[in-house]
Amino acid sequence: MARFVPVARIAARLHASGSLSRKLTLFYALLFGAAVALMLGGARWGIDRYAERAVRAELQAGGEIFDRITTMRYSQLADAGRVLAIDYGFRAAVASADAPTIESALDSLKRRLVLDQAFVVTIDGDLIGYRGRLDPRQAERLPALLDQGADRGVLRLGDRDYAAIAAPVEAPMLLGWVVFAKSLDEAEMTSLSQLTAFKLKPEVRPVDRVERALRDPAARAGIERIEDGERILIQTRPIQSFDPAAAHLLVLQFSLTDALGQYRPIFNILAILGIIGVIVAVTGSAFLARAIARPVRELDRAAQRVSAGEQAQVPVSGNDELGRLAQSFNQMVVDIDARERQIAHMAFHDSLTGLPNRALLREHVQLVLKNARSARRMALFCLDLDNFKAVNDTLGHPVGDALLCEIGARLRTLVGDDGFVARLGGDEFALLLPEHRPFDRIAHDIIDTVARPARIDGHRIVPGTTVGVAIASLDGSDVTTLLKNADLALYRAKSEGKNCARFFEAAMDAEARARREMELDLHDALNDGRLFLMFQPLFNLAESRVAAFEALLRWNHPTRGLVSPVEFIPLAEDTGLIVPIGEWVLREACRMAIQLPENVRVAVNISPVQFRNPGLNATILSALADSGLDPGRLELEITESLFIDNIEATLASLHSLRALGVRVALDDFGTGYSSLSYLRSFPFDKLKIDRSFIIDLMANEGATAIIRSITTLADALGMETTAEGVENVEQLDILREQGCSQIQGFYFSKPLPADELKKLFDREERKVA
Ligand code: C2E
Ligand code: CA
Ligand code: CA
Repeated sequence: MARFVPVARIAARLHASGSLSRKLTLFYALLFGAAVALMLGGARWGIDRYAERAVRAELQAGGEIFDRITTMRYSQLADAGRVLAIDYGFRAAVASADAPTIESALDSLKRRLVLDQAFVVTIDGDLIGYRGRLDPRQAERLPALLDQGADRGVLRLGDRDYAAIAAPVEAPMLLGWVVFAKSLDEAEMTSLSQLTAFKLKPEVRPVDRVERALRDPAARAGIERIEDGERILIQTRPIQSFDPAAAHLLVLQFSLTDALGQYRPIFNILAILGIIGVIVAVTGSAFLARAIARPVRELDRAAQRVSAGEQAQVPVSGNDELGRLAQSFNQMVVDIDARERQIAHMAFHDSLTGLPNRALLREHVQLVLKNARSARRMALFCLDLDNFKAVNDTLGHPVGDALLCEIGARLRTLVGDDGFVARLGGDEFALLLPEHRPFDRIAHDIIDTVARPARIDGHRIVPGTTVGVAIASLDGSDVTTLLKNADLALYRAKSEGKNCARFFEAAMDAEARARREMELDLHDALNDGRLFLMFQPLFNLAESRVAAFEALLRWNHPTRGLVSPVEFIPLAEDTGLIVPIGEWVLREACRMAIQLPENVRVAVNISPVQFRNPGLNATILSALADSGLDPGRLELEITESLFIDNIEATLASLHSLRALGVRVALDDFGTGYSSLSYLRSFPFDKLKIDRSFIIDLMANEGATAIIRSITTLADALGMETTAEGVENVEQLDILREQGCSQIQGFYFSKPLPADELKKLFDREERKVA
């Protein structure tokens, strides 16, 4: 087990390293290693089995050879012994106990047959020709042993065992035996062992207790004994013996370990070949793994570069799965790049006109400003189309869109290659241009370019634009300031009547800041109770009485004092604050009206922003209900500007207001886009003739005619007329003459605080009374 620990540790490290090629190499190394180990184990087992079987067979064969050799030897000796025993001379010598004759016969045979002992034993136990020492008791027993009929076997003489034969000497009576013996000593055994392939180690031994068991035939094939770790195969063969009491065995031993050792070189060669095979396989698989892993690694690296935003491609080799994967990867990178470009284009371009958008303009301006030289003579022109909303509302959005595209294209042609055009959204465009010509000339070119009539979908449209200009570096060294200042200039140009250009001036910035501050203050004004109403009476000329009063908003600013509504109403409109403020005015005005005589109406100014707010009707209803004022006593003053936008929607709203039972007056009549046509479409209750006409009355003859035509028209349509801003009696006289029904102005009364208004009516009542 300990052998596998380092392998496991290496495997763990390879795994942790996360390298595909290392993992593959390790996998193949383990696989091949296991295969080779299995092969070597099998070979070893096979070799062992084969060798063992061969050794056992050899042992068996060896045993049989021993048998045959000993049988042959015994037969040779027995034949020689028998020939001597029947020799007449020899028998006579034995009968006469002629020792010299006997011994000489024995000696010559002993030499010829290479015997260790050749002697005669008489039946009395006398030994003739025996060389060596012999225990007398042993000699005494010899005749008895030899007389048992056996002619061959192991015979113990002195302290040695001999392979011996005995031939009886008879004349004709038994006289004794001729005995030939060969020592079973080491030398004999060694010479025997030379005859077998394995050099078996033979040994003849008396049978002891253990070995008796081995005489069992089953054991003949060989049993195994282990001595000091050495495996030894043993085979025994019984050997005939003269002395039945001292049986003998031929014991053949053979070291199995030695025999197997002979096969060890084969195994070693196999093992070496196996290890070489593993090394070759591992090296090969390492190369293969690296070949497989290389494209994967390249893909991995490329993917990392792509995710870091680079455009990376991998080499494509071959048409296999990896080749196709590389191809798909490259295609994917190209697609991602294309999509990113598309997204980037979408992020920086306007989808309608295809022009750069505000974000790209900012980038561009920033770039220009960074480079001081290029920024020196550059100007940013901000455009806002005049009355674009009317095009959208009257001709539909598709026409509006087409007009925007048309104007975008014109501007692009105008700026050519050295300018930059962007659409900022809605009907706003911006141009960044160098000073090829004076900037004011360029501004006029822009206005003229936009103002060319366009024909879209069969409609003839005459667009117009207002332009705000900010000069690079001079009017802003950063993009935000420059854009803001061009916007301020545009704002100013618009407020000065549109269709014109204005350059930014430092004062605009201060104004804008003041405006922003005012906006913030106005926010608090309503909650802080700093808004209040003044009331200006409207005097009915025919009835000589106050017929109504107009609620006029005032703001008592904490530091500026009274701020004119002319200043703060536009602010309130821009911020949407006009909606809650207007609601407050409505409620206050109704609350005031309910305290005055029933024949007196209250007039409330409604801003276009309020008018377009869908909650206006509900607000009016709630103000009437809360105060208990009769709807017929509330007069809403709206301006003509409402008709610029969407005549149909305006008319619908007017009718819904009328349905509430309130009166509707058209304020500042004659100043805006007065079109007499809509006077027919909606029956206003009153026209309020703008103060500018009243001022003109003194100097201008034509003004009187205008008043005349207005009152005639109003009479014809059943409308009242109120002349605004009447300041003197001369004006009053002309107005009365021209048939004006009501007058409003300082001549009769300035706007009054609530308590003074009430006092005024108290006075009137007293007058009536
Ligand atoms: P307007 O609706 O035309 O209101 C009449 C303006 O003329 C009032 O100015 C009034 O004080 C002024 N005026 C009246 N008689 C004479 C005169 O004889 N000579 C001169 N020079 N001026 C005279 P005021 O109160 O400053 O309001 C200005 C404008 O503010 C109003 O014009 C109206 O459009 C707007 N406004 C005032 N209060 C409100 C309001 O509560 N809601 C809305 N939406 N607008 C309001
Ligand atoms: Ca008014
Ligand atoms: Ca007015």
